[in-house]
Amino acid sequence: MILAKNIHKYFGSLEVLKGVDLHIKKGEIVAIVGPSGAGKTTLLQILGTLDKPTSADVLIINKKDITKFNDKEISKFRNQHIGFVFQFHQLLPEFTALENVCIPAFIANRSKDETITEAKKILDFLGLSERYEHKPNELSGGEQQRVAVARSLINKPDVIFADEPSGNLDTASARNLYKLFFELRSKFGQTFIIVSHNHELANMADRKLEIRDGIII
Ligand code: ADP
Ligand code: MG
Repeated sequence: MILAKNIHKYFGSLEVLKGVDLHIKKGEIVAIVGPSGAGKTTLLQILGTLDKPTSADVLIINKKDITKFNDKEISKFRNQHIGFVFQFHQLLPEFTALENVCIPAFIANRSKDETITEAKKILDFLGLSERYEHKPNELSGGEQQRVAVARSLINKPDVIFADEPSGNLDTASARNLYKLFFELRSKFGQTFIIVSHNHELANMADRKLEIRDGIII
């Protein structure tokens, strides 16, 4: 699913990633751990095509060599194949839960009726059937994060990247969120790459990758 070799990233003269290699298989749930400032977010953004490496020998995502894509091709690829869940859910405040979930599908030009049906199905699966019309500020933290997960799923991505998704949740909501990731993996075969400080999640994952000083140890 993801093959990366010798990824380097500089911000000015600061070398944040110093030759990262990794190989993640389809359907794996991988936790990325490491101290603050180690480069976890930077790596996730590069693997998720939101940022570009300064140099890379190989960066293949879902069989595509994304280093060969132009910006337009990358955006399209991201919209179709990649889902994101962030620490701060980043839902659009003006829109309802249902609308927030539908937006990536509308960007992909999918039909309105099909999208709404699909979005409701996902929200139902996530236990949010009573929340379609709620705006983000009318939802609890755990509910907001589940809406964000629903949004990440609407285009049936092959891989979902999550950057400290439980960072703002209480213990019970965090645990429910991880359980959900595992359920989604068994139901849809999705691959998950999750940055987390949470030991419980990191230990549940199939694999734990530790990043320290810009390399995976
Ligand atoms: P982590 O997620 O592991 O806490 P980050 O990947 O966010 O770490 O950051 C790694 C290092 O890169 C930090 O020293 C951070 O200050 C720096 N950094 C991250 N993004 C930028 C940026 N856009 N410009 C300059 N420096 C950055
Ligand atoms: Mg980070």
